[in-house]
Amino acid sequence: MHFHHLLPWALPALVLATDCTPPSILPHISLPPGLVLLPSTITVSIVSNYSLPATATSPGHPSLTFCNITLSYTRTNRPSVPITLRFFLPTTPFFKSRFLATGGGGLSLTSGERSLYPGLVHGAATGTTDGGFRNLADVILHSEGRMDYDMLYSYAFNGIRELGRIGKALTLGFYGTEKVWMYFQGCSEGGREGLSMAQRFGREWDGVAAGAPAMRQAMLQVVHLFPLLVEQKHHYEGGPCELEEVDRGVIEGCDGADGRVDGVVSRSELCGSEIKGVVGRGFKCPARAGGPAVEGRVGELAVTVAEEILAGLKDGKGRRVYIPVRPGSGFADAAMTWNVTTSKWGAVAGGLGLQYVNLFLKEVQDRTLDLEGVTGDTLREWMLEGMKKFADTLQTNWPDLSEYRDHGGKVLHWHGEADGGISAGSSVVYLDAVRRTMYPGLGLREGFAKMDEWYRFFLIPGAGHCGPNPQQPNGPFPQDLFGTLIDWVEKGINPGRLNTTVLGGPLKGTQQELCGWPLRPLWKDGVLDCVYDQPAVESWLPELDSIPVPVY
Ligand code: CA
Repeated sequence: MHFHHLLPWALPALVLATDCTPPSILPHISLPPGLVLLPSTITVSIVSNYSLPATATSPGHPSLTFCNITLSYTRTNRPSVPITLRFFLPTTPFFKSRFLATGGGGLSLTSGERSLYPGLVHGAATGTTDGGFRNLADVILHSEGRMDYDMLYSYAFNGIRELGRIGKALTLGFYGTEKVWMYFQGCSEGGREGLSMAQRFGREWDGVAAGAPAMRQAMLQVVHLFPLLVEQKHHYEGGPCELEEVDRGVIEGCDGADGRVDGVVSRSELCGSEIKGVVGRGFKCPARAGGPAVEGRVGELAVTVAEEILAGLKDGKGRRVYIPVRPGSGFADAAMTWNVTTSKWGAVAGGLGLQYVNLFLKEVQDRTLDLEGVTGDTLREWMLEGMKKFADTLQTNWPDLSEYRDHGGKVLHWHGEADGGISAGSSVVYLDAVRRTMYPGLGLREGFAKMDEWYRFFLIPGAGHCGPNPQQPNGPFPQDLFGTLIDWVEKGINPGRLNTTVLGGPLKGTQQELCGWPLRPLWKDGVLDCVYDQPAVESWLPELDSIPVPVY
């Protein structure tokens, strides 16, 4: 453990008016071999006294002053594709010898400048990269049938790795220091990027905060289509409003299983997928998504559809293909499309599921994907095809992090338990694969006890995809994950239980100390306890007996 690093007052003081200019910045831009700076693209500006409001993912700050830099470079094998980086560098003495790389969402490597502010709050030089594209879907095919593997690898890991290496050199040069702690923070696709760094370049990073990682994309992108198949099979024509009411019923039915009736499902494994009780609940929604205002009562068919979705994807032989969505997570992937010709809601493929199958598997530019004749077996075949095609890129589920651990790296991994876009179960399956791979001789509890020294996982009760969830407004959220990670990496303070705050609803402002996996929450007389319940933990690990190889 090397806790020694240069103290802030040992650094030369910056004068932004002279140090935050293109000629002053240029000498600090040092690119790894194979990359070429485009000097004319460098733009530099001083931002003074910026007031950052508190958000779900940052405590905010009243006055931030920083040097705002953008620059582009190319790779020697692709001189036509500029890759654009953006950095915010805080003033001294606010700078604390930290660099934070941040990640994107969906098929983008960047979340724009909003992802840079949470780093500044903690005195980190912070950066983001576009990897050479705005949206990978726009560039993944040279032409039909010809995948652009440079862009695929840029998205998979090269873009973020280059951001880290360039950002580290810039930070060391700009502040004239010899040590910088290297961090990554991201959620969804960003969470996947963080894991990709820990899995591949373990010696280059000290701390990774990975939320709801969009890993195992060969399965994840295809399973987005599964709820549509269920709706198609049952000729279901109810709209989003009815399924939302089903979700409310599921939440109400499961709420108390954790020992506290607060509108938050903190123990989704105690719900089961039997939800008959919601039949007959009234619902009412204004017009939206092209469809009309609706009012009605939940019917039997909506419940059948919801139960099949919650039960998860199976193949034609009844074997389990992939990890199901958690009860109480809503039915985002079941979203239907209003047909103006028939005036009915219908299941129409769209979004990432459609883009992935067309662009990444079939390598065609089609904007539609006909689901007629598509079954669970079809989805399984698509998954197996992608597992082979993208094993070293989009899967990002290599379970051995020894190099990262031995370098001293820490992982802070979290997932909203009510995430309707990426099942929280996806994270649990990976976590358990890491445990089994790295601690093969130990039992579940003993293995996690060892893993806790450097890899912690927290389910956020009631939270949705990368944020709080309006369906469970009393749920807590970790507003300052980066601060928690810094304390762990630099001061050796293991988060133990995770500090969170309820950010909305009647309990707004309440603090909660969340349980770290594999402990599970149980409220007793209004007090949150963390209990070890092995059957509950094992219920999060479905046997994917339809997939003929181990799924990490
Ligand atoms: Ca509850």
